[in-house]
Amino acid sequence: MVKIGVFALQGAVREHVRAVEECGAEAVVIKLKDQLSEVDGLILPGGESTTMRRLIDKYDFMSELKEFAAAGKPMFGTCAGLILLAKRLVGYDAPHIGVMDVTVERNSFGRQRESFEADLDIAGVAENFAAVFIRGPHIVQAGENVEVLAKYDGRIVAAREGQFLGCSFHPELTDDHRMTAYFINMVKESLVK
Ligand code: GLN
Repeated sequence: MVKIGVFALQGAVREHVRAVEECGAEAVVIKLKDQLSEVDGLILPGGESTTMRRLIDKYDFMSELKEFAAAGKPMFGTCAGLILLAKRLVGYDAPHIGVMDVTVERNSFGRQRESFEADLDIAGVAENFAAVFIRGPHIVQAGENVEVLAKYDGRIVAAREGQFLGCSFHPELTDDHRMTAYFINMVKESLVK
């Protein structure tokens, strides 16, 4: 069975574990950097990216996360997780993990509404997907190899670049697991290559 790690220093961990298990894959709660070698793909959950970054540094996780990406293993960043994956962040000099060729702006929808649900068509993933946004970021600019999967209000809110999948919303908070299933399929495909 394919093993999906859920990065568990902070954020919506339990919900992602449930979504992965309901998709029929094994979820591994990742709290120590050595555990990364046990999994075939990694979900970076939503939460608070600045707190996550602080904990990544505190537990000395950064080089292992970069190695995981460099090994070609699939990574799925949701909300704060997308901020961790981005190569460029609006208003910041340096990224966090910095592997996905996108420029991301934090708290893009927060001022208007703290949280809301939007009905999205996500290319190749799902039609009529109820996406839950909670002070989510958006992708301001996507590199040439990035496939834009969904937009909301003219802004990119889901994208894929090869092994990397990112979205602005929280796919783990509803019972619609099509986004998680899509990622698990990416992980399966990465193993047969
Ligand atoms: N606003 C948060 C951040 O900047 C992300 C919000 C979320 O993950 N729900 O990290």
